[in-house]
Amino acid sequence: MRIGIGYDIHRLVPGRQLVIGGVAIPFEKGLLGHSDADVLIHALCDALLGAAGLGDIGIYFPDTDKQFKDISSIKLLVKTCEMVSSKGFTISNIDSTVFAEAPKLLPYRKAMQKNIAKTIKIEVDRVNIKATTTEGLGIIGTGEGIAAMCIAMLKESA
Ligand code: MG
Repeated sequence: MRIGIGYDIHRLVPGRQLVIGGVAIPFEKGLLGHSDADVLIHALCDALLGAAGLGDIGIYFPDTDKQFKDISSIKLLVKTCEMVSSKGFTISNIDSTVFAEAPKLLPYRKAMQKNIAKTIKIEVDRVNIKATTTEGLGIIGTGEGIAAMCIAMLKESA
């Protein structure tokens, strides 16, 4: 078994669609980034790459590369899974936490879970997504940004 962690944070700005876990969420602001800035998917990619000993998301999908401009991060996750499986690993399970003061993410949790499970080709009950506020504290609490943490377990294919 191999384990990896990932963390990401993006700034909330007006005029962007908020996308978390591949789900477009109605909100007055969205996350700023070169891609769609899907903070949860980025943390997941880093957890998977970390567990496989493959470095981090910035190596493969640099924000200076025009081909990744406004790209759906789900596509980056597909490429990440290809790298992980070509190194001889299968994904056992993932767990994650999204840190956001607003909007409430609970109504979208199941859709995110399904999206991710389908993309990384594991059962839905092996994809856990939690959400929390930071009780109004710090950069998350003031609504300046949204962060996500993820942990992934891989097993070596027989
Ligand atoms: Mg990111």
